Amino acid sequence: MMLIPCPWCGERNEHEFTHGGDASKVMPSGEQQTDPEAWYQFVFERDNLAGEYLEYWHHSYGCGKWFKVTRNTTSNEIYGSCKP
Ligand SMILES: [Zn+2]
Repeated sequence: MMLIPCPWCGERNEHEFTHGGDASKVMPSGEQQTDPEAWYQFVFERDNLAGEYLEYWHHSYGCGKWFKVTRNTTSNEIYGSCKP
């Protein structure tokens, strides 16, 4: 079992949360806003990293808020969380 630290509620059981994916991706802006390839990469292209990873989590069965977690994907060790 993994305890995930929600910035608003504190540590809770992982079953209260929904994983939201990579939080390091930047939404296309400026001239790239109309580039289908930029949107394709933003929405679908994901790295399958082993190690420290910044990701979104949603406290689905709690406060209902999104936040970021830094987690090691191989050990599930969590280094911290913050508001988005
Ligand atoms: Zn919460």
